[in-house]
Amino acid sequence: MRIIISEFMDTAAVTQLQNDFDVVYDPALVDKPDELHAAVADAQGLIVRNRTQVSAQLLAAAPALKVVGRLGVGLDNIDMKACADRDIKVIPATGANSRAVAEYVIASAMMLLRGGFLSTADVARGDWPRARLSEGRECGEKILGLVGFGGIGRLTASLAQGLGFTVVAYDPGIPGSAPVWAETGVRQLSLDDLLAQAHVVSLHVPLIESTRNLFDATTLAKMRTDAVLINTARGGIVDESALADALRAGRLGGAALDVFGQEPLKTDNAFADVPNLILTPHIAGVTAESNQRVSQMIADEVGGCLKGQAPRV
Ligand code: NAD
Repeated sequence: MRIIISEFMDTAAVTQLQNDFDVVYDPALVDKPDELHAAVADAQGLIVRNRTQVSAQLLAAAPALKVVGRLGVGLDNIDMKACADRDIKVIPATGANSRAVAEYVIASAMMLLRGGFLSTADVARGDWPRARLSEGRECGEKILGLVGFGGIGRLTASLAQGLGFTVVAYDPGIPGSAPVWAETGVRQLSLDDLLAQAHVVSLHVPLIESTRNLFDATTLAKMRTDAVLINTARGGIVDESALADALRAGRLGGAALDVFGQEPLKTDNAFADVPNLILTPHIAGVTAESNQRVSQMIADEVGGCLKGQAPRV
């Protein structure tokens, strides 16, 4: 049986699959759509990250496909209905990169609240912006507002509580009576109340119709003017132009974005010379450790599925 891997995967996990299957591993396939379409023609398994678009068109080119492994968790690049119609199993690496994302959120929050870490160029030039950077803020007694309180939101909450944050969350998918609120010590708020109170707002929702453009100019205007916004969830949830305007106008304290409406960004994007901004290339969930965990989980699950073994619970 044949497995196509179209984006990067940890070597040990690829080797494990090669022991049992005919594996085509080409991390550049994602950028060669014609070759990708040809490669999947006789494949039973396909393994992707977030960049390969598993569209109805690609699925139609893969008549023997039984399973799609996703080296990550968001499923917005996969046509789930087309997979369900064909009984193709889709397996995400649930939980395997949560810690990487949660640590990214904490690091970004601390950098942006404190402010001083963005002074490298000034200091190297011989400037000494000590007075300007002596107003940085600590985490203790600050409020972290989580929009989406699933796996990553919950892990982020527990790391943040260890630093002294009070954590609140908005998640209409979790009833107020759910034990998770008492178990985690996180207070459930409406979105408006969260926006009005939080010093740091971090997004942990999937990209779906109810979250598309959720953080537009109107939503951003409801945040504290000194608040920090962190988006590790998905591009398309935050209006990038509105965010750039708010940061330029000093109507927001700072932002960290790991995900964008279009990845990579176009050169004429909204972010030139925007202050108090951290941009990273969709790496919040990718560390040396998480790449190993994610790859191992998907190798086990996709391999097991093709061998007819029962999935993990
Ligand atoms: P999860 O499914 O465990 O939790 C998502 C939560 O969002 C659920 O509790 C759900 O009820 C809630 N939700 C849905 N719609 C909502 C809305 N309109 N408002 C508020 N809450 C809503 O997912 P997770 O594992 O915590 O991951 C969250 C997202 O993070 C993923 O969908 C993925 O897009 C993104 N992610 C990004 C990276 C990265 O590298 N940047 C890595 C991993 C995950």
